[in-house]
Amino acid sequence: MKVCKGIELVGGIDPECNIYVVDGEFIVDAGTGLHFGTIKKEIEAVAEPDILKLLINTHCHFDHTGANKKFRDWLKVSIGVHPADKDAVETGKGSLAEMFGHTPRIMTVDRVLRGGTLINTKNFSFEVIPTPGHTPGSICLYDKDKKILISGDTVFENSVGRTDYPGGSKSELVMSLKKLSELNVEYLLPGHGSPKMGGISFFIKQMVNFLTEDKKYI
Ligand SMILES: [Zn+2]
Repeated sequence: MKVCKGIELVGGIDPECNIYVVDGEFIVDAGTGLHFGTIKKEIEAVAEPDILKLLINTHCHFDHTGANKKFRDWLKVSIGVHPADKDAVETGKGSLAEMFGHTPRIMTVDRVLRGGTLINTKNFSFEVIPTPGHTPGSICLYDKDKKILISGDTVFENSVGRTDYPGGSKSELVMSLKKLSELNVEYLLPGHGSPKMGGISFFIKQMVNFLTEDKKYI
């Protein structure tokens, strides 16, 4: 499904996360691997496999990383993740694989994506924005000119990421959301559920308010 010019959404049916194919050049998140055959066909319909060379994990959780090895075997892609989630991706510990009924998978990470790293394609320039909270190494990808935010499990259409899994932090999530609310975003492409257009900054500010107001009643 085309979500905006140059970006296709594949996967996304529970328990899979949304998988984005950006400009036919890189992929954001891998899914669990349970439906890899279907997802592979969806990707082949929208991109040239030879051109896809990078798979970015927005964070370490199994529903976003379980198929990393399958993608690497298929496309010989490099796998990129923020340093704070690198160990969890590599060892599978903290990936919540057990929660999805799987044993943790071991996988090497090829590329460490620090804040400020630019992922450039023919038509996009996405900056890596660290957004800890859901996990310590959660990242968003932001294209300033196109006003697109690929938000992983940090922000969804109507909610924000949960912080009660290992490594989660509500106070860090609030800081991350405050940072995101300053960005000029027209298209929100979350890790689950529907993309959202318009009113993004207002919505994120509302969520910050909701999360911080909450403290008064504890
Ligand atoms: Zn997650």
